Amino acid sequence: MQPPYNFNAGPAVLPKSVLEEAQRNLLDFNGTGMSILEISHRSKDFEAVVTEAEALAKELLSIPDNYRVLFLQGGASLQFSMVPMNFLAEGRTADYVLTGSWSEKALAEAEKTGSAHVAASGKVAGYKHIPTPAEIALSDDPVYVHITSNNTIYGTQWRDLPAFPGTPIVADMSSDMLSRPVNVADYAVIYAGLQKNAGPAGATMVIIRDDWLERCPKTLPTMLRYDVMAKNNSLYNTPPVFAIYISMLVMRWLKAGGGLGEMAKRNAAKARIVYDAIDGSGGFYVGHAEPGSRSVMNITFRVSDEEKEKEFLALAKAKGFVGLNGHRSVGGVRASTYNALPVEACEALAGLMREFRG
Ligand code: PMP
Repeated sequence: MQPPYNFNAGPAVLPKSVLEEAQRNLLDFNGTGMSILEISHRSKDFEAVVTEAEALAKELLSIPDNYRVLFLQGGASLQFSMVPMNFLAEGRTADYVLTGSWSEKALAEAEKTGSAHVAASGKVAGYKHIPTPAEIALSDDPVYVHITSNNTIYGTQWRDLPAFPGTPIVADMSSDMLSRPVNVADYAVIYAGLQKNAGPAGATMVIIRDDWLERCPKTLPTMLRYDVMAKNNSLYNTPPVFAIYISMLVMRWLKAGGGLGEMAKRNAAKARIVYDAIDGSGGFYVGHAEPGSRSVMNITFRVSDEEKEKEFLALAKAKGFVGLNGHRSVGGVRASTYNALPVEACEALAGLMREFRG
C-alpha cells in the first residue's frame, strides 16, 4: 500500500471501490444519461437509492420492524437540538452521561429546551474513562438518558454498550456507527453523522422507534419534526442526495465484506496494532484513554516529550501519514481507524512509531 495513509477523523477515508463506482455514476447514473447529481430527488431512480439505503441499514444492524431509518441534514450537531425539542417535554428531565466534548455540546442544547441532569461526568478526570454503572446516577424517571458511544476527540468508547432497564436510551453514535453490531432494540433513538465510517459529509442517519415518532410536538418547525421526516421517507424536502447515495454504496460494501460482525473484528485487529505500539514503547508513547475505555475508532496518545511529539508529527506528515494531529482542543496524536482504513495503514503507523522511538 502506498501513502497517503488517511487517518483523518472525519470526513475520513472511504472505500476505493465505492469512490470508483461513484466516479462512473457521476456521468451516467443507471443508464439515464444524467449524473446522479442531476436527477430529481423525486425520480424513481433516486427513490430507489433512499429505499435501498434504509433497507441496507436495517439489514446490517438487524433493526427491528418497529424502527425507521431517516437520512437528515444538519449533522449530528442538529440532533443535539432536535432530540430535546422533540422529546424533552415540560415537567420531564433528560439525563446526560458526559464522556467528552460532544456530549457536553449535546447537554448544552438540551438545557436550552428544558430540564437536563448530568448523570455522570468524566470531565474532571480528563475524559479518560467511560463510567461504570456504579458511577452513573440517573434522575428520578428521566424521559431518556443520552450517551455518546464513541468519543472522537478523547479516544474512548463504550466497549459494552450500557443498558438502563426501564429508561429509554438516546445515543450519539457518530464516530462508531456501522463499525460493529448494536442491539438497536435497546434504544429509542440513535443518530450519527455519516462522515466517519459510513459516507461523506452531508447526511445524518437517525434510527428511531415508531412510538417515539408519535410524541413529536406539532408546534415545532416542520424541518425539526422527526415524524414529518419519517412520513415522507426522508424526502419531505430536497435531501442530501449525493451523501445518501455514497452512504448507500458504503453499506453495500459493508454487506459484501461480511457485515458488521466481520467489520468489528477487523477494526479491533487494526486498533490493536497501534495500541501494541503504544504499550510496547516503555512509556515513550502514552495512551490517553484508560485501557478498559479505549476506542477502536480513535486512538489518542502523547509522545512523552513535547518537542519529540512535534518531531514525530512532522516526520509522519513527511512520510505521507495524514490527519494524525490530535483535535485542536486537546493536542497530541490521534489516529482514526475507521472502517475503510486498510490494516496496512495501521501496520505502517506502528512501524513508524517503533522506528521513531529507536
Ligand atoms: N458527535 C460526535 C461523537 C462527533 O464525533 C461529531 C463530529 N466529529 C459530532 C457529534 C458533530 O457532528 P457534525 O459535525 O456532523 O455535526
